[in-house]
Amino acid sequence: MTTRELTCVVCPAGCRMTVTLDDGGTVLEVEGNTCARGKNYAVSEITHPVRTLTSTVPMKTAAGKKMLPVRTDKPIPKEKLFEAMEILHGVKAQAPVKTGEVLIADFIEPGTNLIACRDEI
Ligand code: SF4
Repeated sequence: MTTRELTCVVCPAGCRMTVTLDDGGTVLEVEGNTCARGKNYAVSEITHPVRTLTSTVPMKTAAGKKMLPVRTDKPIPKEKLFEAMEILHGVKAQAPVKTGEVLIADFIEPGTNLIACRDEI
């Protein structure tokens, strides 16, 4: 059996949690969470951590070159973040774009899209 300490990031309370795992990595117990969302976060973070990727890509606009903020519209597996950043190095956006517009469909994972986070004309 092992234990892991982590801080819940679901809300600003930031509860400190202790997760107990068996030797196979199965979560046996979560302590320190104030609500069920914390327990769900702890189990997900231990068994299948995910993150929303946020970054910028270069783009040409009528006003010149800019950097466009982008993000994935769903969290992706943490272990795929570096692969995703490698792909982003070759991406350029083209104005005009709207906030929420899909720049790359099925980015990294089927059903996950790379979207624009700002309007640009
Ligand atoms: S366990 Fe609940 S109350 Fe505590 S930080 Fe997480 S979401 Fe907030």
